[in-house]
Amino acid sequence: MIDLTVQPQMKTKIILHLLKTTFGFDSFRPLQEKCILTVLDKKDTMLIMPTGGGKSLCYQIPSLIFDGLTVVISPLISLMKDQVTQLKELGVEAEVINSTLSPEEYNTNKGLVKSGRTKLLFVAPETLFKQDILEMLDQCKVDCITIDEAHCISEWGHDFRPDYRRIKDIRLNFPDAVFLAVTATATKRVRNDIITNLMLKVPVELIASFNRDNLFYEVVQKNRATDQTLDFLEKFKGQSGIIYCFSRKQVDALAADLNEYGFKALPYHAGLSSEVRNKNQEAFIRDDVPIIVATIAFGMGINKPNVRFVVHYDLPKNIESYYQETGRAGRDGLQSHCLLFFNPGDIAKIRYFIDQKPDEVQQRVAIDHLNAMVDFAESRTCRRIPLITYFGEDYTVENCGQCDNCVNIKEQTIDMSYEAIKFLQCISETEEMFGAVHVINVLRGSESEKVLNYNHNECRIYGKGIHLSLRQWQNLVRQFIQQRVIDKEEKYGVLSLNKKSYDVLSGKLLFKGYPPEPDKVKSKLKNVPRIMNYDDSLFNELRKKRKELADSKGVPPYVIFSDKSLLEMCQQLPKNKNEFMQVFGVGDQKLKKYGDMFLKIIKNYHN
Ligand code: ADP
Ligand code: MG
Ligand code: ZN
Repeated sequence: MIDLTVQPQMKTKIILHLLKTTFGFDSFRPLQEKCILTVLDKKDTMLIMPTGGGKSLCYQIPSLIFDGLTVVISPLISLMKDQVTQLKELGVEAEVINSTLSPEEYNTNKGLVKSGRTKLLFVAPETLFKQDILEMLDQCKVDCITIDEAHCISEWGHDFRPDYRRIKDIRLNFPDAVFLAVTATATKRVRNDIITNLMLKVPVELIASFNRDNLFYEVVQKNRATDQTLDFLEKFKGQSGIIYCFSRKQVDALAADLNEYGFKALPYHAGLSSEVRNKNQEAFIRDDVPIIVATIAFGMGINKPNVRFVVHYDLPKNIESYYQETGRAGRDGLQSHCLLFFNPGDIAKIRYFIDQKPDEVQQRVAIDHLNAMVDFAESRTCRRIPLITYFGEDYTVENCGQCDNCVNIKEQTIDMSYEAIKFLQCISETEEMFGAVHVINVLRGSESEKVLNYNHNECRIYGKGIHLSLRQWQNLVRQFIQQRVIDKEEKYGVLSLNKKSYDVLSGKLLFKGYPPEPDKVKSKLKNVPRIMNYDDSLFNELRKKRKELADSKGVPPYVIFSDKSLLEMCQQLPKNKNEFMQVFGVGDQKLKKYGDMFLKIIKNYHN
């Protein structure tokens, strides 16, 4: 057992040693070390870190050092099982107790915990409060209680679990246990709820940056979305990714299309039976199928680290969802891509749905969220600014080099007063009584029923704006509104003139805007950072071996080795066990179990 009264420097050495020998990693990620040290000092801690930031290590490492038990309360059975499988692969004594175990397994695991062999116990909150479990824990020395996904305690969080509220009741049962609450939800309200509800004692609050610097953000105008998706997937052959669609119907249609074009993809949405859903999810996790097309029902409870891309086929409902959904890419820290298709024409459709909401407050909130999302999509500055500042964090990097706007040479605004004046004249001639689409129709000389009924085909301005498409005009209208050159009434979207409009009309003020792109644009990117070469034959050989081992053990491939480990094997071409030990993710256990097998493949390839 490791002596905890040692000097701080010694503690740092010990945890670094465990990091390499047990987990195979060379260095800590931001805040991990700090968190581990405060937990070891038995100071209650709240850790806020984005998805993929590495929260698990912050209780896993202390659990190896404490001589008593660490209990991890987690809301999702699938995640608990996944983590226990991974920990066992690393030689860590971890067990799970929940309602899905058979009576035999349940009792075996209880026995292991009581015997003191188990270092880490994962339980669902409802299991924790069962009489026999509480009695079992009474007989143990509990050193740490970790509350994973601690936002579940808050009604303001996105998945409130009433059982989480009872956790504080067991505090008195474990006077020697330190409490560690971890979550990726950062809003102040949720944070405060966690602290008060858990009755954390003078908690240390550790808040990591929400910037995920291995994610590339890109927004593309959506026009022929299926073709655009196929173009995109062409660049990610054989790699794992998620495509989010708004509706179930769209999910089914797109999944079918992709398969027809030779991309293996499975659908996932709440309309499928739970059997089919589980089967499809499992196939994705096990790398049997690379692509999952899904509604937002997909993603909670999966921990797959090698998701290389997340596509949003439709506009997400708010920035937070967008951040969470794209956050499922690149948990392993490798370069990954987030693509959003944006069709300004969809805004009206979403508005229509929002208008159906019975409650006016709900409507307001939904409109605010929509506007923030549209601002994100239309932004010409770094995509990280709206994303990260949303969480109350400052972001001051000038060029992130990891988003479409930073990689492309910035377009300049140009004098677009000609278009602005035409548009303002058209609003004026139609007597400031219509929304954008009607005004554009008049400008473009449409013969729609509404235009003819109002005799707007007799306006002087009728047909004078035919040089731009409907979509291009819509883009301009948004710029007019953003720069307050016109006013837009909230409820029906009626456009009207204001003082600034008259300044533009009279030539006193120039309107400077970004020229809208011509239709049928493909991805604007020429120099997207290269992801990785999945065609590399050695990489493929190693992947095959990994898959074979995983299938024979009935675990997901990433439990054997992460993509990053395989990639480093290809780059470093280790020749012996010593060199193999230098590879990312290789600790004592992996070396012992798989070293020879993988070294042999590398050697054969080399010869
Ligand atoms: P979170 O719970 O914060 O979403 P996880 O704890 O699941 O994140 O960790 C995400 C991934 O990062 C895992 O694959 C994990 O093995 C890896 N990871 C965590 N810490 C480190 C580290 N210090 N070095 C390298 N990889 C790490
Ligand atoms: Mg986690
Ligand atoms: Zn940027």
